[in-house]
Amino acid sequence: MTFIWDRPNFDAHEAVHIVTDPASGLRAIIAMHSTHLGPAAGGTRFWHYADDGDAMTDVLRLSRGMSYKNAMAGLPLGGGKAVILADAAKTKTPELLAAFGRAVDRLGGNYVTAEDVGMSVSDMIAISRETDFVAGLPVDDAGEVGGDPGPHTALGVFLGLKAAVKRKLGRDTLDGVHVALQGAGSVASHLARHCAGEGARISVADIDAAKVEALAAEVGGTVVDPAEILSIEADVLSPCALGAILNEESIAALNAPIIAGAANNQLARPEDGQRLVARDILYAPDYVINAGGIINVSTEYLDDGGHELVRQRIDAIPGRLDRIWDESDASGRDPAAVADSMAQRLIGRA
Ligand code: NAD
Repeated sequence: MTFIWDRPNFDAHEAVHIVTDPASGLRAIIAMHSTHLGPAAGGTRFWHYADDGDAMTDVLRLSRGMSYKNAMAGLPLGGGKAVILADAAKTKTPELLAAFGRAVDRLGGNYVTAEDVGMSVSDMIAISRETDFVAGLPVDDAGEVGGDPGPHTALGVFLGLKAAVKRKLGRDTLDGVHVALQGAGSVASHLARHCAGEGARISVADIDAAKVEALAAEVGGTVVDPAEILSIEADVLSPCALGAILNEESIAALNAPIIAGAANNQLARPEDGQRLVARDILYAPDYVINAGGIINVSTEYLDDGGHELVRQRIDAIPGRLDRIWDESDASGRDPAAVADSMAQRLIGRA
């Protein structure tokens, strides 16, 4: 029999909870990778998996990713993640959400949940009726920290992108810098406004024609075919749509000296980081540059400061990237591998 600790994605996770509630049909897995720095925090994914084993792989991999991301964002939080194994019709009932909320509550605050793929703010409100260990709730009337993480993610990516432009192109502002955006969604549209506001030239692609045309018109940008955005000539390529877009083939065709964007898990495989180094392309590790959203969510949950603390923590992103790039230059290791090593040191797993 294969035990969980023999699975390839098992990484000394502190606990993996299997949750069932026959009355509501809930089947879920809650993985706590590390509580070294604080409660294991990370969203809940609601997804129909063809195979239950895929759900386990996802939750093990994603919870470790949250440990690294939270540690590198300087947050007093560990890493965790939950997946709810939806049926093929993705039936989501109030009873199922309530049962999930009770399961989170039973962990006594060692796991804190929020939105991920397939889960909305209204789902978090439903869960919050059963437990306090939930974030990603709407901003209250007092205008406290909270709400949509997209604008905060975009601000962090903007500051990180500027740090990359300074390092690679020696420019202090984005005036005249050509930024190619993959995606015209929540993060990309806020990012496009920041960049255009500083004089950048924007090219943007999205599979949603109405969305991309509206954004291009707003920022005076150019619409590009989604099939071409990864290889157009630009100063910066900013992936803000999908994961695993940087692979052997796409890296060979890149025509931008900098990659700085919000999408999670941009490298298809770990060795793709070294492929970017070999092409002399400066890469901003995704979970470091896109931490603005989790910074906002965590400040909401921990209630340890207001908008000023959120801004301070987001302002720290460029400096963190510079330290990663310095260590990468000194060691010859690619920035993503350097970031992983730094994160492992921070969670006591060097
Ligand atoms: P979103 O859903 O608002 O936008 C994504 C956009 O990508 C959509 O408009 C979609 O049509 C487009 N898209 C899909 N496939 C495409 C393709 N092949 N080519 C071009 N465009 C395509 O999502 P978002 O919140 O803006 O997040 C963007 C990325 O950043 C995601 O990968 C997300 O996981 C990551 N991220 C987001 C946040 C956040 O705070 N929202 C935080 C961290 C990471």
